[in-house]
Amino acid sequence: MNQPLIFALARGRLLDETVPLLTELGIEPTESLTGSRKLMFETEHPGVKLLVLRAADVPPYVERGGAHLGIAGKDVLLEYGSDMLCEPVDLQLSKCRLMTAMKKGIELPAMGRIRVATKYVNVARRYFASQGRQIDPIKLYGAMELAPLVGLVDVIVDVVDTGNTLKANGLEPRDLIDYSSARLIVSRVAMKTRHQHIFPMIEKLNKWAKSRDAS
Ligand code: AMP
Repeated sequence: MNQPLIFALARGRLLDETVPLLTELGIEPTESLTGSRKLMFETEHPGVKLLVLRAADVPPYVERGGAHLGIAGKDVLLEYGSDMLCEPVDLQLSKCRLMTAMKKGIELPAMGRIRVATKYVNVARRYFASQGRQIDPIKLYGAMELAPLVGLVDVIVDVVDTGNTLKANGLEPRDLIDYSSARLIVSRVAMKTRHQHIFPMIEKLNKWAKSRDAS
């Protein structure tokens, strides 16, 4: 098998946390992954290449064979919703909660569709359906917190860590939809065709994640 193993990483806050994990696997990029406009990186590990993608693009790359494995947040995986991806390791990184949030003192409209701003449209639709409510989603890509303040929506669905961003904008967290953390993802195909490379990685990362979780 001469083709390189391709590992897809998410740019942004998760990327800095990913570097020690790569070191654990003996994968050293030949140049810094951050602060570069490059998308594909060589490594000192023979036969491993890295892709640095938008977080939401990691699942489709891995699912469709553009990469053999990757790291993606559970929030992104819940939104993407594929049954062709395995999630063999909870890496215990980038932990946060998917939540609804609203203006302080405001309640949801008693009837009719709920106006929701989010980049997690599928997650929001499923969550409110489970509450017996239909939504009118507005897909936004950032600064979700503004939308209820200007009356664009009733509620937002977003990831929350400390809750400081909500608070600073006069919003408060309401319902917990799910917990999120970064996961190692592998396509079902690569799990079979590249198992001799991927299984030892899964074993190492499981140990690494467990030791981090315990500390
Ligand atoms: P916080 O103020 O700590 O609750 O952080 C909230 C802001 O950071 C929101 O803009 C979120 O979209 C973003 N955020 C928080 N945690 C994460 C995470 N684990 N992954 C990606 N974005 C996050």
